[in-house]
Amino acid sequence: MKLETSIEQLITKKIDEQWQDQLDFLKTIVRFPTISGRERVMQLYLADYFSQNLKMKVDRFIPDIDMIASHPGFSPPEWSYEQSDIVIGSQKGIEPEAGRSLIFQAHADVVSAEPISEWVSDPWEPHEQDGRLYGRGVADMKAGLAAMVFAYKAIREAGYIPKADFMLQIVPDEERTGNGALATLEAGYRAEGALIPEPFGLKAAVAQVGALWFRVNIKTIQKDAWNQKQTNVIEKCNTVISALMSFEDELNKTVTHLAFSEQKKPINLNIGTIKAGDFASNEPIKATIEGRISMLPGEKIDDRKKELEEWLIKKTKHDKWFKTNPPHVEFFGFHAEGSCSDDSTPLFQELDKAHTYVTHELPKRRTLPSTTDARFFHLYYDIDAICYGPEGGQFHEVNEWVDLESVRKVTKVYAIMLANWCGLSKVDQT
Ligand SMILES: [Zn+2]
Repeated sequence: MKLETSIEQLITKKIDEQWQDQLDFLKTIVRFPTISGRERVMQLYLADYFSQNLKMKVDRFIPDIDMIASHPGFSPPEWSYEQSDIVIGSQKGIEPEAGRSLIFQAHADVVSAEPISEWVSDPWEPHEQDGRLYGRGVADMKAGLAAMVFAYKAIREAGYIPKADFMLQIVPDEERTGNGALATLEAGYRAEGALIPEPFGLKAAVAQVGALWFRVNIKTIQKDAWNQKQTNVIEKCNTVISALMSFEDELNKTVTHLAFSEQKKPINLNIGTIKAGDFASNEPIKATIEGRISMLPGEKIDDRKKELEEWLIKKTKHDKWFKTNPPHVEFFGFHAEGSCSDDSTPLFQELDKAHTYVTHELPKRRTLPSTTDARFFHLYYDIDAICYGPEGGQFHEVNEWVDLESVRKVTKVYAIMLANWCGLSKVDQT
């Protein structure tokens, strides 16, 4: 029997043996309500876990805005990072030239669980049923986080240590900006390859769209000159919403990017919030509409901003009211470019091999209608990074779930990939 085969068998057996511990760990981290901006409690727990249970060197710090503010991948936040710690667990390679360094990176934050009353069970108390685990963030992406932690733990407990440098990176604010991942890379925490456990059903992502957040402010600047009456701005929101939806149609008419050519509507404009008024008998004078528009790889953020502003002016200028009260657009949060990767690189080959070992077939590829932190590695640091994780559903919605058997499988894939990419050395004491 070949030595590699015996290591693979040994570590996958360890993963089966520690499965109950992994499940308990996953449930523990789901109970931390790490909505973006409130990651600290879980991050403290993980920092402690990495140093106590995995014997890693741990660094913990908050994103340094001054350091990343002029970076092309920066997204301007309208919130503080006081409670948004980054946690890095590092294992120095004991024979770095004999392997390649690797990062497993997960985001700590989740989106709001509202409307909580619509969940079948408490979103912050994980609920197991028919092979699935339900709860906010179980799939996106705490099951993946647990899988990468337990992949490394299995290797350590099987009596091995990576030959090359290995890092577990847990980053905040992925759901609104990606500034946690950017601050981590910009602070110098880099490697020759990275894996992000986004829950895409054991498929490897090869392309992703970008995302830009916008806010349209509509305000009564003065009473209508023609009748000296005030116009209800909620009624005027209709014009802006129609303009935004026609902007999405217009952009989708000219999609030529190869990776997205088969999708019906690769560019998506989502209206996420509308705020106006605070009293049923009053006419509101101010309204804000917030949303997100995507971009294909290669499209520039500044171009999309200009196109959106010009489109709104064009579509509202025939309305008498908008002439004196023009809509004003702001951009905040996500300023994420789209990105693509070559799926024949050595990192993809290791993933393909590990996935095939576990499932007896090659993993499928997919293009993503959303952005992920993988873009930073591809676009600005020339590091190969793959998004690949368990099977789940209802991400960002009520009754989010993850399939537990798929979590066990990806844990094995991660461990084998880590073993073959970094190389392993036998150690006497773990
Ligand atoms: Zn995610």
